[in-house]
Amino acid sequence: MSQLVSARIRTMAAKLGLPHVAESLNQYAQRADEAKMGYLDFLDLVLAEELAVRDDRRFRQNLRLSHKTLDDYDFSFQPELDPRKIKDLATLSFVEAKANAALLGPPGVGKTHLAVALAVAACRAGFSIYFTSLDDMVRHLKAAEAAGRLTSKLRTYLRPAVLVVDEVGYQPLERAEANLVFQVISKRYEKGSIILISNKTFSEWGQVFGDEVLATAILDRLLHHCDVISINGPSYRLKNRLAAIERDSEAA
Ligand code: ADP
Ligand code: MG
Repeated sequence: MSQLVSARIRTMAAKLGLPHVAESLNQYAQRADEAKMGYLDFLDLVLAEELAVRDDRRFRQNLRLSHKTLDDYDFSFQPELDPRKIKDLATLSFVEAKANAALLGPPGVGKTHLAVALAVAACRAGFSIYFTSLDDMVRHLKAAEAAGRLTSKLRTYLRPAVLVVDEVGYQPLERAEANLVFQVISKRYEKGSIILISNKTFSEWGQVFGDEVLATAILDRLLHHCDVISINGPSYRLKNRLAAIERDSEAA
């Protein structure tokens, strides 16, 4: 690419508010060369990457707003949860090792809170992160597959250093959907971390994924390098409600 053309593209990309294109132009061109990409695939790559960076940025901003941190988590409310296990995860050595973490337990015990706090910590340490519910991920992948853009959509879930997948097990999946999940998990295997959150035990995953063999294949890759944290205590959401009910019944 001539210097003149690349300088012009950078200027135009900056004017259009596409900072990532401006920064990574040479890298894109090189990838396109190496992969002998067609024109449409190249444009698809460039736009998908820009969008991913933008989503990531927006998510960072949302995280800053939601600011759930480990300091806000009251460990005394979950006496069976060893705080050291969470503090170990917060060192992020599992992210460096491209290993996984699973947070399991019933509703309201603070699984999402802890996952967000870990994601915030990873973000602060400069790792890219992406947060999704399992259902959203499956929905987006299915739509992309139907439109013939699965490969580029998969990149959204393969690119970040940490992928947080929340609410695994709330809705059972069909086989084709479970297969999309398998693709994400197996492609990230030993390449990037997953923080997975579920209200189901692993033995129930056969039902969640609608197929024992597929569930086993997913678990096999997920659990090979994985810290599993089970939180089996009371719901924090119900804490204040129960206290209020007790107060009312004492008053009555
Ligand atoms: P889960 O994902 O396990 O259903 P959440 O993380 O959504 O639960 O927690 C529900 C609410 O209770 C959130 O507002 C969360 O910040 C709060 N919460 C849960 N556990 C604790 C705790 N131990 N200390 C402080 N806040 C908590
Ligand atoms: Mg939750």
